[in-house]
Amino acid sequence: LTGCGRADEDTPTDTASGGASGAAEAFPKDALIGVSLPQKTSENWVLAESLFKDGLAEAGFKGDVQFANGGVGEQQNQIQSMVTKGAKVVVVGAIDGAQLGTQVKAAKDSGATVIAYDRLLLNTDAVDYYVAYDNFEVGVLQGNALLEGMAAKKPAGPYNIELFAGSPDDANAKVFFDGAMSVLKPKIDDGTLKVVSGQTSFNQAVTQGWKAENAQRRADTLLSASYSSAALDGVLSPNDTLARAVITSVKAAGKPLPVITGQDSEVESVKSIMAGEQYSTINKDTRNLVAETIKMVQALQKGEKPTVTDTESYNNKVKVVPANLLKPLIVTKANAKEAYANDPTLSKLTQ
Ligand code: BGC
Repeated sequence: LTGCGRADEDTPTDTASGGASGAAEAFPKDALIGVSLPQKTSENWVLAESLFKDGLAEAGFKGDVQFANGGVGEQQNQIQSMVTKGAKVVVVGAIDGAQLGTQVKAAKDSGATVIAYDRLLLNTDAVDYYVAYDNFEVGVLQGNALLEGMAAKKPAGPYNIELFAGSPDDANAKVFFDGAMSVLKPKIDDGTLKVVSGQTSFNQAVTQGWKAENAQRRADTLLSASYSSAALDGVLSPNDTLARAVITSVKAAGKPLPVITGQDSEVESVKSIMAGEQYSTINKDTRNLVAETIKMVQALQKGEKPTVTDTESYNNKVKVVPANLLKPLIVTKANAKEAYANDPTLSKLTQ
């Protein structure tokens, strides 16, 4: 999947609007809306389930909100059955964005609108809109946080770091990594940063299935192979679950904790940040993302065009998908209180 996701400067730009993305016909106010979510690999997905159920019901729709814990085949069947039941909008958080072409085409053929939620759908023209926090920006924020966190501990480099990426079937993983590398690569090239293992490519850094045990195993191996004498100053981690896995590994090796990034503002990671262990996370408030998605559904219901903020960045290899991008926020111990002030769960952890 290398290169998929965010459009590179040199990728062809297809029709950003018009065609499949034009305003569709209005549909009944109590229509069926399908929401197909991936596996529960992080807390944001779990939160999305109840937010979609409640939010769609409140807006007057019939919601069909499902997880695909069993994997890609289950998600394919799930989407197909939403289409059969007559869903007017199908919202998809894909396990593997490249494996749903047949099902989203069936959705389009039935007259439904397809919205890619959080993760882009790849290699298909049967996707009308994308709604997500800006993934490339997430990576940029992580890269900058890593540099700042290390500089605060040790004013001058070189710094020894290791790089972790997400699951290669998730279209976001490469975009997060590219965003972070847009900041880190120049510093690797000028010698400020040293990836002691030499593992600097996305393929070397990936974590299959976003699974903690896979990141922990790789961290164990890196520590014993490359850090018996060298100190590990920093780790780029794409999300909180994997950050905590790396922390577990470093502790088990009896080494001092490096500066480590994350994403998702998971409860255990916010606690870890407040305790001075994990360095940073990203606030991508799921409440806002789901609310924004439901607003798009409401616009479609009226036969109107939903909000689009970006018509350039997310090329899925067949078309540039019109995107409604929300702004992610970096959170460290220094701004946690302010960042989570309106979050009933997280604000309790930052007092
Ligand atoms: C989401 C992240 C999440 C990851 C693992 C990604 O697609 O954007 O927020 O950490 O999936 O669940």
